[in-house]
Amino acid sequence: MYFVANWKMYGNTADINKSKSVIKLANLKKYKVSKIIYCPPFTLLSTFCDKVKNSNIFIGAQNCHSISEYGAFTGSINAKLIKSTGAKYIILGHSENRKCGETDIIINRKIRSATKENLKVIFCIGEKLSEKRKKNTYNVLRKQLINGLKGIKKIENIIVAYEPVWSIGTGLVPKNSELIKNIGNIKKILYKFKKSKSIKILYGGSVNPKNVKELAKIKEINGFLVGGASLNPKKFIDIIKKSII
Ligand code: PEP
Repeated sequence: MYFVANWKMYGNTADINKSKSVIKLANLKKYKVSKIIYCPPFTLLSTFCDKVKNSNIFIGAQNCHSISEYGAFTGSINAKLIKSTGAKYIILGHSENRKCGETDIIINRKIRSATKENLKVIFCIGEKLSEKRKKNTYNVLRKQLINGLKGIKKIENIIVAYEPVWSIGTGLVPKNSELIKNIGNIKKILYKFKKSKSIKILYGGSVNPKNVKELAKIKEINGFLVGGASLNPKKFIDIIKKSII
C-alpha cells in the first residue's frame, strides 16, 4: 500500500518535525512493506530528505517545469533540480494545476522530463462533477491517460492516482461500487494502450480516518493520496493503520 501525503502549499521547517511519529511507524516491521511518501512544498524538499534519511519514508515533489534542461526560467523548478534534493517521487497532473491551465500536453512533457530523471511519477487523473453528471467519466479518464502517457516508455515509473475533482477537499467520497468501476476501467485502458497490468492505482479525495476503512476494502486500490488529513500526523497515522489490517 502507498500512502502519499500531499502537503500542497502548507508546511514550514518546524512542521517537518511533526513527521517523527510517522517515521517511527514506517520503521516498524508491520509497515515496512508499505510506501509512505511525503510531498512537501519545494522549499522543504532537501531538509525533509535529510530528515528521513535511513528511514522507510520517501520524499516527492508536487510539480515541475516541463523543460528537462537547466535554463532561463525564473521562478521555475525542473525535474533535474528536484532529483538533486534527494526526492524520488513527483506528483504530476494534479487537478489544482490543471485548473490553472495545465493541459494534457504540458503534463505529458512533465512526465517525460520526470521519468528521464528516474523520478517515480504519481500521475493524477479524475473527472469534474459536471463531467460525472454527463456520464462522461470514462471518456475523461481515457483521454487523460492516453494523452498524459503518450510516448512514455518507463511505464514502471508511473503510479496512477485516481482523484475525482469533486472529491478533493470537499469531504465527498465516491461509493465503493463507483470506485471499483472507475478503477477497473483505468486498468483496462492502461492494458489496452500501454500493455501494462502492473501499474499501481491510488485513490485520492477527502480520505480521512473515518472513511478509510471502507475504502481500504477495495482490493483494486493500491494506496491513498492524502491531502488535508496528511498535515496532521495523528490523522495520517490513523489512515495508515486502518488501511493495513
Ligand atoms: C489532494 O490534494 O490530492 C487531495 C486528495 O486532497 P484532500 O485529501 O484534501 O481531498
